Amino acid sequence: MEIIVSPFAGFCYGVKRAMEMAGRAAGKGPVYSLGPLIHNPRAVKELEARGVTVAQTLDDIPPEALVLFRTHGVEKETEEEARRRKLNIVDTTCPFVKTAQNKARFLHDKGYTVLIFGEKMHPEVRSLYSYTGGTARVMNSSDELGDESFKKAGVVSQTTRKRKAFSRFCAEVVRKSQETRVFNTICLATTERQEDAVRIAQKADFMIVAGGRNSANTRKLFDIVSEIKPAVLVESADELRVDELRKYDTIGITAGASTPDTTIRELTSRLKTYFGG
Ligand code: SF4
Repeated sequence: MEIIVSPFAGFCYGVKRAMEMAGRAAGKGPVYSLGPLIHNPRAVKELEARGVTVAQTLDDIPPEALVLFRTHGVEKETEEEARRRKLNIVDTTCPFVKTAQNKARFLHDKGYTVLIFGEKMHPEVRSLYSYTGGTARVMNSSDELGDESFKKAGVVSQTTRKRKAFSRFCAEVVRKSQETRVFNTICLATTERQEDAVRIAQKADFMIVAGGRNSANTRKLFDIVSEIKPAVLVESADELRVDELRKYDTIGITAGASTPDTTIRELTSRLKTYFGG
């Protein structure tokens, strides 16, 4: 059996940066992250073991603690409240998410109807929404535009969306508006990872996508590759039904941006133990 592992699998720049910042903060007294730092249960557990507690709200955080803002960013009002309470903030928001927040705010300030292409309940999208004073419209596909038309429409995307779907969405907005301004806020790491996943899926007989089920970019990767080849999404090597893979000659592995390298290594070694290669 041949195993192809995507060189783009695993922690992206933003997640690596956040994990390093959290690692430096751990051990300096009580540390809380506001929501899980990244969308990977294993990584969050490892952080917990190092003393980083997940808090649901600011009220759960004692005043003397360090508070980590997560990679996806937090809502503007939450950040303002944390500053008002004089909490010790370590802001791990990915710089690409910060850019998307700034673009959303810019469009709002310039009087555009802001359209956010993304998942309404995703923490990153909620943070983008907050930067438009709660006025943005969040849409998951161009179908949701319905019969609407716009005088001035400004578009940003959740950083982990598929590029093609975003292009389709923007084309439809252009058709419906007198003026359109688009900021492509999809991050390059996401695009490269998705393109490489397609390349591997075209060669492989079966695809394994590793990552948290609560991770939007992992689920997107799974959607992309499962349109090309049979695929499975696993959070750990233990979930793999190795016996069912016997019929395949080539297996491709890719992973979401918040998947630790350990998970990818465990998957590869599990396959090698069973099938050699
Ligand atoms: S996927 Fe992109 S935007 Fe998201 S954390 Fe990673 S580098 Fe940042």
